[in-house]
Amino acid sequence: MKIDLADIAGTPGTRGRYSISEEVAPTEDLSCLGPVVGVLEVENSGSLLLVRGKLRAMVRLACVRCLGPLECPLDVTIEEEFATGETEVGVDTMDRDEPEASAMAEFVLDVSDLVRQQLLLNAPMAPVCGEQCRGICPRCGQNLNDGTCKCEGQLTEGRWAALADLLSQNSSEEKQE
Ligand SMILES: [Zn+2]
Ligand SMILES: [Zn+2]
Repeated sequence: MKIDLADIAGTPGTRGRYSISEEVAPTEDLSCLGPVVGVLEVENSGSLLLVRGKLRAMVRLACVRCLGPLECPLDVTIEEEFATGETEVGVDTMDRDEPEASAMAEFVLDVSDLVRQQLLLNAPMAPVCGEQCRGICPRCGQNLNDGTCKCEGQLTEGRWAALADLLSQNSSEEKQE
């Protein structure tokens, strides 16, 4: 979705309100279940074009412990400032600070681009499917949430514990390759 903001950008004091329902294509890091929805408000403050919004998405991520899928709501707050024709040189705005800011060109706001950027920024770095998640066994790869594996209790007593740790590190490294 793109919104043409030329009228607002050209008239200080004007504002607009836009309902957003945006399908975001999945990336390696994140996929959305259904559209990202919310409201965007755009205001020409006289010297800046302010874009504010609160959006919500249901996203699917991978648990860092067990690698299983986890679905969670993600709130996205958008607060960006873009230059208008009236903006003085030297004032920081998103389109000036960030050369990669591709969301606005010629006062057409690329909502898809903006939403995608903000989703990635807001996504948790190390999502866990639940506090109780027991992860996977580093030796055999069994998902310990589904039940214990036969490795448990082996080689983990007394002086063998350190060796067991070493072995399990090695085998988990091999598994990941
Ligand atoms: Zn998990
Ligand atoms: Zn195991």
